[in-house]
Amino acid sequence: MTTAPAEFAIVPSSRPRTTAERAAALDRLSFGVEFTDHMARATWTVDGGWHGHRVEGFAPLELSPAASVFHYGQEIFEGLKAYRHADGSAWAFRPEANARRFQASARRLAMPELPVEDFLASIRALVETDLEWVPATAGASLYLRPFMVATEPFLGVRPSHRYEYLVIASPVGPYFVNGFQPVSIWVAEDFHRAGPGGTGNAKFGGNYAASLLPQQTAYARGFDQVCFLDAGTASNLEELGGMNVFVVGADGVVRTPALTGTILEGVTRSSILTLLADQGTPVEECDIPLKGLLAGIRDGSVSEVFACGTAAVITPIGRLAGESFDVTVGDGAAGPVTERLFTQLTDIQFGHAQDPHGWMQPL
Ligand code: PMP
Repeated sequence: MTTAPAEFAIVPSSRPRTTAERAAALDRLSFGVEFTDHMARATWTVDGGWHGHRVEGFAPLELSPAASVFHYGQEIFEGLKAYRHADGSAWAFRPEANARRFQASARRLAMPELPVEDFLASIRALVETDLEWVPATAGASLYLRPFMVATEPFLGVRPSHRYEYLVIASPVGPYFVNGFQPVSIWVAEDFHRAGPGGTGNAKFGGNYAASLLPQQTAYARGFDQVCFLDAGTASNLEELGGMNVFVVGADGVVRTPALTGTILEGVTRSSILTLLADQGTPVEECDIPLKGLLAGIRDGSVSEVFACGTAAVITPIGRLAGESFDVTVGDGAAGPVTERLFTQLTDIQFGHAQDPHGWMQPL
């Protein structure tokens, strides 16, 4: 059932940046360091449900040191982007999918679900207010970060009776400044990010905290990203710390790990599966044993490996290494399937191509 979305009252920031300051910020785009002038928010209480929907100036939050998020970590988030099209309008890519995943994450963390319509209304209200912050530079976009934290000052171990939902926004540059940059991946064989029955398929802050130490190890060894294996058998590929993974066979079949509950169901992953199905490409959601993958890369039956997610869209993986192996995928450069999918997706997102599935939503 669709209900009318909540109205987000606009309370303009008392200290918005000047046009010159904003232009300077939009000139030096990287990822997640600049924030727009406003944020959207709403409060949930056990007695009053959702209330206080509003857009207000981006500012520090005042929270009790006893707020339960600081102690037991009830925190979930989302990540999606607003894209500027040639006529000046701003569009979101499949925001409803993020809204539904936010609800699924909330259920897993015993937090209240935000109605899909209110999630969408919060994005619209914030982007409308900060429309000037949606970059017009080719390949750049406004990254939107909705999140929810437990704010009740209470030290007992139980779900909080009070939560704050917020959306902040950050203008971000094109991820690939020099076109496709294949990344090198370190396969973590000793640490896992999620286990069966755990929180792996929720977009929950704790999953990311658990991935930081293995990621640090990967960086220290000179690799760009870390890839996790399943915690049960430590033999199958799962995903990277913040991206899903795909394997392209020389036989034309494209494979990706199945949704077993321990990996995140990426919006990019599901869109790629749809694009491949549209083209009649055979796809399989299945186990991807590391051993078989390495053998396939060595004998050429695996031609491409890539990772995907909202931030970088699609990242070719050129090299895969672990304690006992180090292999180059193909010739180490981006392959044709990876490149084609990147172009197809970004053309839809930036309004350069038709959108047959109605993925783009005007903001
Ligand atoms: N896996 C993890 C662990 C992630 O954090 C992300 C980023 N949200 C993804 C996969 C990719 O998801 P999406 O395509 O929705 O960005």
